Amino acid sequence: MASHHFHPELSVVVPVFNEGENVEALLAKLVPVLEGTVASFEIVFVDDGSRDDTFERIRRAAAADPRIRAVQFSRNFGKEIALAAGLDHTHGHAVVMIDADLQHPPETIATFVAKWREGYDMVYGQRVDRSTDGPVRRRLTQVFYDLFAKFGETPLPPGAGDYRLMDRKVVDALRRLGERARFSKGLYAWVGFKSLGVPFEVQERLHGTSKWGYRQLTRFAFDGLSSFSTLPLKLATYIGLGISIFAFTYAITMAVRTLFLGADVPGFPSLIVSVMFFSGIQLVFLGVIGEYVGRIFAEVKRRPLYLVADEIGGRKSGGIPASETRQAAPHA
Ligand code: UDP
Ligand code: MG
Repeated sequence: MASHHFHPELSVVVPVFNEGENVEALLAKLVPVLEGTVASFEIVFVDDGSRDDTFERIRRAAAADPRIRAVQFSRNFGKEIALAAGLDHTHGHAVVMIDADLQHPPETIATFVAKWREGYDMVYGQRVDRSTDGPVRRRLTQVFYDLFAKFGETPLPPGAGDYRLMDRKVVDALRRLGERARFSKGLYAWVGFKSLGVPFEVQERLHGTSKWGYRQLTRFAFDGLSSFSTLPLKLATYIGLGISIFAFTYAITMAVRTLFLGADVPGFPSLIVSVMFFSGIQLVFLGVIGEYVGRIFAEVKRRPLYLVADEIGGRKSGGIPASETRQAAPHA
């Protein structure tokens, strides 16, 4: 990291997508918590292609408080990528990631920081319940986590989300993972380090609605499974093997039967059914392989993860942020 940057004790990353009406309310709660908890801090908003007045509101807030900075994407890249960009633009000794809609109560940061000072490198919020999500979404989420627990190659702590504190060394480790399909919950678990869960109660969203439709969630679920498990691919081998063994024994039975009882012509319906059944299975697995190939394709293209259109308080917007003239706080 460049040494000319001011390194606050804590950086807070806030991904925002059309959160205009939440910006001030979030700051009003977040800033006092930070002032009472750490020696110095910066708040880095990542505007993920908002089409409302989110960025203008952040600009106004940043004009009044140099500890507030922002990165604006050229378009919507998705929360996972916004978080990755946030990590790239922080300089703190530790980084907290928090949602803008106040579903993550800022007060919990005090506990995160306390645990970090005790020596934990990663302190993650564990949601006590998901009652703010609808029953269908809750059920589907459960199915996904059960699947992941069974088949994923990295175990996930239950109830852990993006609300968490990470020491600089964890942040640097995460930044070395250049994956396009960003299933961060898996990545957090994959990097390891000394971690601790802290329970928190998910609040109701302050304004607006969730930005995740079922389509995005499904896509996200498959990204998660496919980047942490090759089981869907292996399944084709197992099923194929099973069917081959069955076909082989069936062939022998038929041969023996024909030898002793003579040939019998009927059997067309079963023939058609089995042809359709097996071509169905083949197409399904072709699709599964296609999903993996598509992801490999996305990775090998090596496109940048995101594009920045504008920055507030960064190098691009010119001038040295007032915060940089201050002394760095000693690392706790
Ligand atoms: N978000 C984002 N890009 C997106 C979708 C969401 O940066 O494409 C941000 C959003 O502004 C919020 C956080 O990610 O700060 C969580 O989003 P949301 O509340 O919609 O998700 P949920 O709480 O339903 O999981
Ligand atoms: Mg939310």
